[in-house]
Amino acid sequence: MELPIYFDHNATTPCHPEVVEAILPYFTSAYGNASSIHHPYGWIAENAVEAAREEVAELIGAEAKEILFTSSATEAINLAIKGLAMAHKGKKTHLITIATEHKAVLDTIEDLVHQGFDCTFLPVNAQGEISLDQLKASFKTNTLMLVGMTANNETGNLHPIKEMAEMAKAHDAFFVTDAVQAVGKIPLNVKDSGVDMLALSAHKMYGPKGVAALYIRKGFPKIDLVAQITGGGQEMGLRSGTLNVPGIVGLGKASSISLKHQVAESERLFNLRNKLEIGLLKITGSQRNGSSERLPHVCNVSFKDILGKPLLIRINKKLAVSSGAACSSISDKPSHVLTAMGLDKATAMATLRLSLGRSTTDKDVDFAIDYISRVVNDLRTAS
Ligand code: PLP
Repeated sequence: MELPIYFDHNATTPCHPEVVEAILPYFTSAYGNASSIHHPYGWIAENAVEAAREEVAELIGAEAKEILFTSSATEAINLAIKGLAMAHKGKKTHLITIATEHKAVLDTIEDLVHQGFDCTFLPVNAQGEISLDQLKASFKTNTLMLVGMTANNETGNLHPIKEMAEMAKAHDAFFVTDAVQAVGKIPLNVKDSGVDMLALSAHKMYGPKGVAALYIRKGFPKIDLVAQITGGGQEMGLRSGTLNVPGIVGLGKASSISLKHQVAESERLFNLRNKLEIGLLKITGSQRNGSSERLPHVCNVSFKDILGKPLLIRINKKLAVSSGAACSSISDKPSHVLTAMGLDKATAMATLRLSLGRSTTDKDVDFAIDYISRVVNDLRTAS
């Protein structure tokens, strides 16, 4: 068993070996620029990009022409939110989002608020769930968009995106979803759920870092976006810059692999996660954070009456996990997600998020239960 055991698949995932194999030729022999339309080097690269576009589209039930490649989901989210806001500036200036969104959304909206936009931040209950009644009451006549994540990165909570999309539509607003943690893990279909824009990221689904995509629904009502990166006019003029062909090929391959395995893998991880959670909840003073509607591979547990820092330092010697601290494990601030759910600072800091993935085995889970139980009990005895 290789230590520390990796339990941080929501932070990032290793590239699938088949993804690496698919990417390599695009660094060496097939190195053309996908925008070079006058010679075979360019055509080969362009064909590879278009094949990847099809693969990403198929994973989420979209059409290839609705997929736009970016360098990260953060960039995709910025384009969706700021691009839409800029296109409607001076007309519709109200946004709605959820207090527990990723910083990629919250900071982007904060930027717009500084520019004169107005935003309603929906609270969540102790389980991290929103109230649809409260959401309904938040719409105004000038609401331009609702931004709500498909799955939360800390708790794994799934939001009712279909109902949210319907509600946005009924109020003549757009619905943007950050689906970074859900895509490739559970089946998703943009047409069934009715979302207008959706962001996904390759490195969360066994693809490479530095490549992601934005789904932009075609059809009525038309989604007008103002480009946030200008230049050579790539990606329908919405995202200039030479395309990252190896990365895009990797995202395409990761998408087709996920499509094949996501149902069986999510079932396998659901069982492992439940075993892990049952084991951890036997520890005195432990509590689960999150609702019953959650991603199958995420486990978020807090431990009362122990300090967060020593807990994380001890745990990370043998298990690579995330904590309940904001953004990084060395932060002294508790996670905004956990505090929005009502956790006090000390409990939020004494929280571990374990996210399981392809490499996780039954033995890893047994080890994690035993090790975490021993560390928590040691820390309790010492205090
Ligand atoms: N949204 C969520 C929910 C995430 O978990 C992350 C990554 O941690 C992002 C957005 C940002 O993705 P990227 O790393 O591709 O910018």
